[in-house]
Amino acid sequence: MLKSLQGKTVIVTGGSRGIGKGIALRFGEAGLNVLVVSRSQADADAVAAEIGPNASGYAADVSTEEGCKGMVEAAVARYGGVDVLCANAGIFPAARLGEMTAADFDHVISTNLKSTFLSVSAVLPAMTKAGSGRIIITSSITGPITGYPGWSHYGASKAGQLGFMRTAAIELAPKKITVNAVMPGNIMTEGLEGNGPEYIASMEASVPLRRLGMPADIANAALFFASEEAAYITGQSIVVDGGQILPESLSALEAMG
Ligand code: NAP
Repeated sequence: MLKSLQGKTVIVTGGSRGIGKGIALRFGEAGLNVLVVSRSQADADAVAAEIGPNASGYAADVSTEEGCKGMVEAAVARYGGVDVLCANAGIFPAARLGEMTAADFDHVISTNLKSTFLSVSAVLPAMTKAGSGRIIITSSITGPITGYPGWSHYGASKAGQLGFMRTAAIELAPKKITVNAVMPGNIMTEGLEGNGPEYIASMEASVPLRRLGMPADIANAALFFASEEAAYITGQSIVVDGGQILPESLSALEAMG
């Protein structure tokens, strides 16, 4: 049983859907004040309403400096500070090399990677004032470990987040701010569910634990990084993928029986 985080405040970027929603719900359940951030105010408000009176929505584009500064100002005004940042917002449009434009590449890097830098920079004054802080980045297995056709820009952004994390962890250690990352495998989100049962079944077949991950699986790992018990862990990442990256070939999966 982890010590209580009751009364602390978390900002969850991309908290209106998918993994971010799972993180927001889990942190809300653990008694934190939750600022749910997405570009859509209505979607962020809907998740906040599901959590309860200790949560509220905020509309911001985290690929912009104003957006990130605004969300931190809102958290400080509403809850008195920021203890935890979950830098989770991300996009994954597919485009293969030869078709991918420079604008496509910039858009993904800016939404997934530059937003990580901007949101971390924006929370620093509040965490420095508090004398401690927890930053949890949602990276991916795609990029740091695996590849997938159409996702060279996405993979670069997710691997880039881990490179950013390691230096950020060293720089922020004297302020008692830890920076860690979760690396999800295939997680069942609203978008994926729309692809139908056959597609889902084919994805499940590539996972040794024979199911897709749920947003709550990622949220539990994020909550651990935010816990007091994880105070001595920084600059680290944890893969949460049901064993997806383990089989060295298709025959290894088949040999599981
Ligand atoms: P999702 O269901 O599409 O949700 C994305 C969230 O990010 C939404 O709340 C969206 O809200 C928000 N968002 C997107 N662009 C934004 C921006 N510029 N500013 C603020 N908010 C923005 O995505 P997901 O699958 O949960 O993915 C969440 C994170 O997990 C991403 O970083 C992704 O790379 C990572 N991940 C996902 C999987 C997976 O299997 N799902 C696997 C590995 C890693 P608005 O559109 O309203 O802004």
